[in-house]
Amino acid sequence: MFEYSDNRFQIKPSTKKQIKSTSYDELLDYLRSAGEEKYRADQILHEIFINRATDFKQMTQLPKHLRNMLSDVFEITSIELEEKRVSADGSIKFLFSLADRQFIEAVYMPWANDDGEVERSTLCISTMSGCPVGCAFCATGTLGFKKNLTPSEIIDQIFIVERELGTKINNVVLMGMGEPLLNYDNVVRAISLLADEKTKVISRRKITLSTSGIAPRIRQLAHSPYPPKLAISLHATTNGTRNKIMPIAQSFDLSSLMDAVEYYYRQTKMKITYEYIPFDGINDTLEDAERLRKIAQRVPSRVNFIPFNDISFTKPQGISLELKPSPPQRVAQIAEYLRSHKIAVIVRDSFGRDIEAACGQLALSREQ
Ligand code: SF4
Repeated sequence: MFEYSDNRFQIKPSTKKQIKSTSYDELLDYLRSAGEEKYRADQILHEIFINRATDFKQMTQLPKHLRNMLSDVFEITSIELEEKRVSADGSIKFLFSLADRQFIEAVYMPWANDDGEVERSTLCISTMSGCPVGCAFCATGTLGFKKNLTPSEIIDQIFIVERELGTKINNVVLMGMGEPLLNYDNVVRAISLLADEKTKVISRRKITLSTSGIAPRIRQLAHSPYPPKLAISLHATTNGTRNKIMPIAQSFDLSSLMDAVEYYYRQTKMKITYEYIPFDGINDTLEDAERLRKIAQRVPSRVNFIPFNDISFTKPQGISLELKPSPPQRVAQIAEYLRSHKIAVIVRDSFGRDIEAACGQLALSREQ
């Protein structure tokens, strides 16, 4: 909704609550105060998350008077699809705009079997517009922090991609723009709504939250209603190197991070994933391989080597200028060393090199 003031149109903040951000318990409270039956909360969630209603008028399971009451208090908002880029490798990058004209991205990645049929799909979604963490290898970090996404804006990315592609997303990875654990309440609420058996959008075991390592929040996440799988953006095996390429590491060193990861595993019994971008001469020595082995063997885990996406378009400075991808033979050597110690390793190809796939690249170019 817009209003005209200061000689321009401005977004007028709505006083209504976003229904897609509303928890089951909050719906129950509302229904109780409105003198309505409890089972209506299940019906409302069914209409929103299973029937994907975009208007209260479409909620035909509900009596008319309740639909009218709901529309007085709640609203069904949605982010907008701005652009869709399809890569030759099958991945698709989506650019969305929020109500306040901030931009966020999601990337769809299909995994095909030997016959070329898509066996499963992963959607990497954003939890913030921009990001305050400023990792030296990440384009999103150069945008700075813009805003935390609401649960509704996080969920919309899945809804819109499923609608656009006419397919169900099998895995969701919270690894797009933003540090999910710095938007803790909204992210946990979005996961709870998605994983709730009443909404049936996606199981918590098919949701992976990737963090740069906010140790106290990792411990807290272990006690959230639906703890997801945990991935750690590790990218270095010493505090010295990690501090240089990930400023957040100055607040949470490797020792406190590893303690939190072990705690998470002990509470949830789910394997941990370590994400590692090998940088030439920075974190790819045989000593790094040995330290990585020790880290990965602390609790059941696997290591994903991710290729470095070029960020020269961000006009990098300082340590970012020194980051170059490791030669493939060296990555293969480290991977082999870890495998020889029975550690599961995946050496990933980069998806969507031809469609500005670096995290934040499309949003940054749109802003510019
Ligand atoms: S890698 Fe993640 S945490 Fe680091 S700046 Fe980019 S979006 Fe933020």
